[in-house]
Amino acid sequence: MNEPILAYLPGSPERAELQQRLAQMSSQRIHIPLVIGGERVETGTTFEAVMPHKHAHVLADVERGDASHVERAIAAAGRAHETWSRTPWHERVAVFLRAAELLSGPWRSTLNAATMLNQSKTVHQAEIDASCETIDFLRYNADYLVRIYGEQPVSSQGVWNRMEYRALEGFVLAISPFNFTAIGANLTTSPALMGNTVVWKPASTQALSAWYTMRLLEEAGLPPGVINLVFGPGAEIGAAALSSPDLAGVHFTGSTGVFQGIWRTIGSGIDRYRNYPRIVGETGGKDFILAHPSADPAEVSAAVIRGSFEYQGQKCSASSRLYIPSNLWSDVRDTLQREVSQIAMGDVRDFTNFMGAVIDGSSFRTQVEAIAEAREAGAEIVVGGGSDDSEGWFVEPTVVETDDPGFRLLRDELFGPVVTAYVYDESRWDETLDLVDTTSAYALTGAVFADDRSAIEQAHDRLRYAAGNFYVNDKPTGAVVGQQPFGGARASGTNDKAGSMWNLIRWVSPRTVKETL
Ligand code: NAP
Repeated sequence: MNEPILAYLPGSPERAELQQRLAQMSSQRIHIPLVIGGERVETGTTFEAVMPHKHAHVLADVERGDASHVERAIAAAGRAHETWSRTPWHERVAVFLRAAELLSGPWRSTLNAATMLNQSKTVHQAEIDASCETIDFLRYNADYLVRIYGEQPVSSQGVWNRMEYRALEGFVLAISPFNFTAIGANLTTSPALMGNTVVWKPASTQALSAWYTMRLLEEAGLPPGVINLVFGPGAEIGAAALSSPDLAGVHFTGSTGVFQGIWRTIGSGIDRYRNYPRIVGETGGKDFILAHPSADPAEVSAAVIRGSFEYQGQKCSASSRLYIPSNLWSDVRDTLQREVSQIAMGDVRDFTNFMGAVIDGSSFRTQVEAIAEAREAGAEIVVGGGSDDSEGWFVEPTVVETDDPGFRLLRDELFGPVVTAYVYDESRWDETLDLVDTTSAYALTGAVFADDRSAIEQAHDRLRYAAGNFYVNDKPTGAVVGQQPFGGARASGTNDKAGSMWNLIRWVSPRTVKETL
């Protein structure tokens, strides 16, 4: 069963506890070290972890690692591999199930508060990520492990055949993005669950939740060296880790460009490695909502509001392009203008806000420039379009309307609260299916809205490679572990479905044993 989502209603004990934790974390400036072989490591240089919604507020000074720390982390992972990869699976599982219990109880407010403050998530967005999804990954992966290990070849009289699901030989490099605390937890714990040891490089803008995730795992009994936490600039840490002959796998989530660079580095240096590194990557998206003329405009509008603007549009699954037929547009447009202009945005410690800030100055500029580009190109700003970075990196939820089906904003990922609508002639459903399929190189999530069953079937068939997670009459965000295994293909990743057996299977190197009895 999935972890129940707590509501944090006024007067509830969980709300009081979280508010206390938020106040405490906001009033201190902590120091975050690297964690290598279980030891706290200082590097002599630090960078600041701030609140995106109040960027002058520093939450932590974070140790900045370099290539020498990556070397130490790889060595620590190598030492831990000797025992961890031989540890009986049920002992490994116990550590991660214990972590899930701790997170479901006393650690919940800590990880939620860290995610709210450093990643600017509202209470609901932090709860479904840092708590529920992380717990679900931990529990479901344990269940999948048992199923994988149970998969055995047939034996015959006098012969016992078996598969040993060994860990990979070497270390796994986990590189996580800023936008989901649960992703960092899963990128590290799924290989570790299968007996691997890990070097973890979290996004520099996710330092607080990464630190508390690490401490949670330690408290749950994770032995030293199984996961080694190294902060620092992505390019430098990545290059050092990829140059090691012991690299056995990369478990990456982040942008397409960075992933392609990692793949190129591995490919061009392939003879350096003892094993062919497993490369698993979940990358960018340009996720669509496609409405058929038979769709319910109220449902489409609600899907756009939640799918495009929750967590400021910074979900890889967020809808950022809308294909809407001419017969529905005026209704949907009116609703969006009315509802979106009323969205409350601000400091996430005020629980009435629906949106916080975007993650950093660089993302802020990307959104502002895209909105300016839309204006210059003659596209209409249907609602929003404003921004203010004086205190926090705030970008208004924005709907752009273009009549150019090849417009850049329908093609490229912006990763912010900007959705671009293209209004198609209601008689051109067929051509619009082609547009949805071919306009963007990404293929992560997508949603079709229709009442007409044959239209749903057409979209299901014609868009079969346009999304790894395909939704019918629902917004394209909010995949739940165990219910909708998540991942996309094309430029969106290797589609190894996080939170499923298909992901875990990448972290084992099976040995077949035939024993004559
Ligand atoms: P990002 O800029 O690509 O960073 C991701 C991670 O890569 C960070 O830890 C980053 O470190 C590191 N990195 C940066 N340059 C590197 C390099 N040259 N070599 C190795 N590592 C490097 O992505 P983000 O802004 O954190 O996250 C947003 C992106 O993730 C979006 O494209 C989104 O679609 C994607 N995403 C995809 C999924 C999915 O399931 N498909 C899920 C979530 C997010 P620094 O922080 O230090 O730069």
